Amino acid sequence: MPSACEAAVLAVQSQYLDPETEAILFIDASNAFNAVNRQAALHNVPRVCPAVSTIFQNTYGAPISLFLPGGDRILSREGTCQGDPLAMALFALAISPMIRRLSSDHPSIGQCWYADDGEAGGRMMDVHKFWLALSDIGPEYGYFPNASKTTLLVKPDFERAAVDMFDATGIAIRTGGARYLGGAVGQSTFIADNLDSHIASWVREMSLLADISLTQPHAAYSAFVRGMKSKWNYHIRSHPGSASSYRPLDDVINNKYIPTLTGRTEVSDSERKLLALPVRYGGLAIPVVSEDAEVQRRISEVVTGPVVRMLRSGSNELTPARVVSDTSVLRRHQNNQRADMHRTQLSELAPALSGPQRVLLETSRDAGVGSWLTAEPLASCGFVLNKSDFRDAVAIRYGWPLDELPSSCVCGAAMTLDHAAVCPTGGYPSLRHNEIRDLLAEVFSAVISDVRIEPTLLPLTGESLDCATANRSPEARLDICARGFWSRQQDAFFDVRVTHPSASLLSRSDVLAQLSRNEAQKKRAYLQRVIDVDVERGTFTPLVFATNGMCASECSRALKNIVQLIVEKQPELSYAIVMSHLRCRISFTLLRWLITCFRGCRASYCRKRVAISFLDQCRLLQL
Ligand SMILES: [Zn+2]
Repeated sequence: MPSACEAAVLAVQSQYLDPETEAILFIDASNAFNAVNRQAALHNVPRVCPAVSTIFQNTYGAPISLFLPGGDRILSREGTCQGDPLAMALFALAISPMIRRLSSDHPSIGQCWYADDGEAGGRMMDVHKFWLALSDIGPEYGYFPNASKTTLLVKPDFERAAVDMFDATGIAIRTGGARYLGGAVGQSTFIADNLDSHIASWVREMSLLADISLTQPHAAYSAFVRGMKSKWNYHIRSHPGSASSYRPLDDVINNKYIPTLTGRTEVSDSERKLLALPVRYGGLAIPVVSEDAEVQRRISEVVTGPVVRMLRSGSNELTPARVVSDTSVLRRHQNNQRADMHRTQLSELAPALSGPQRVLLETSRDAGVGSWLTAEPLASCGFVLNKSDFRDAVAIRYGWPLDELPSSCVCGAAMTLDHAAVCPTGGYPSLRHNEIRDLLAEVFSAVISDVRIEPTLLPLTGESLDCATANRSPEARLDICARGFWSRQQDAFFDVRVTHPSASLLSRSDVLAQLSRNEAQKKRAYLQRVIDVDVERGTFTPLVFATNGMCASECSRALKNIVQLIVEKQPELSYAIVMSHLRCRISFTLLRWLITCFRGCRASYCRKRVAISFLDQCRLLQL
């Protein structure tokens, strides 16, 4: 079940607050996975979970060979086998008859289990009886409770009784609180102290990450978004705490991490709020933790509600299937609410931004534009940006001034991003065009056998073309021809254009209009000549991209079509993975050439051939 550990922590916290609860036992077992009784499990699994009994019989029905260094072999006859992906499931099924038996013999005890970590709470006397029963029947199932690793949490009034009853067992008795599945259960001061100690270690980690981001901002960004944030979220969701506890964390993020990451020492309040939004809403997904914590807690309470109720009630009325479906409905609802919240925040921020910044923000939500931020920084796919490229890319995204830009271009014009993106001096725009063409031809070739780069069109022999701007040259070439792209046996011709949406455009629709104009221009030049049956018997599709990764409508249709062709021929790949990877490859190529356009030879980017094929990259990501 999704969020199950989080739900378990919340359920046990609520159990502790229940006036009926006097004590909670946190149980650990010795060598649990290796000790579980395999014969009993093979006998029980067909009854407990018939759906998986065949594979268990096949895997564990006979002793399993374990190979030792030097070539010797021993047989594994007991427990689950190390390295078996089903080990966790077998272990859970093997001990579930024991849990059910304890549950029917001790109905007043609330239990919660995660792998071999057991939990049992209720009246002191009942908890004691439960422990004796578990110690007695556990070994039959291969579950050996380990008293020295087990903790008894008691409410302060019951400490005396606990000592009397449990003294001989060797179990540690605590009154403040206990850690459980990464969360904390007990008195509010214990939980707050536990949270503070987590936050103190996160502050140290963030400070270290800020040092790393001085030289490796892209890696430090990815580590934050993919690693630390998820870890924090788990703890934030499983620790009730006040917003002010998180201030030290926000201080280190705002004063140290963001400046080293972006190279920008002054970030205004509205810019900081913008950076907190998810990438698809124009942000960098760097939350203001003290504000986000409350939202996370609320979402967690709602989403884990059904699982918590199931764990607390202990009844069988709520079936797991019902709980899973209730949870997914709640999760969808919460996601929609969050999306509404982000949209509202965005519209509140808009007035504080300059006109060009607003356009950048509007377009940063288009497909493909934020791809370079959400991609895993994999060197094997060419997705790693060095420090100056990463900071330039962030500056371009937010319309911030670029560091150390020369005052004028080699051609003599004043140097601006808009000028650099289109100035032909140095030949960068045509190199950029060629690389996009080659990338698309490579992707097309993954599933189409006849792909040609720069095919010449058949010369005209007296045919008349209607359009004045049609290309009539006998040497006219297009960028790509792929036979069978749109339909069998038909040549599909493509021509690539990369256009730069300049800062003078006033809205996202202006950018889209610019892309459409480019599309129309290309069609006037080639469409009739290609399509006219007498000339080439083909189709013509302009592939128009903006330097920020957006693309015009025909181009977007062509990308969808090639991804569809790929997943039809490679059914192990998912449409979403292939599409997002294609968008990432395009996004990184455009971004690096845009940076090269104004950094010139200073740009770090050299055209390294990516060593593995597009399809292999998709397979890698699919894992
Ligand atoms: Zn120039």
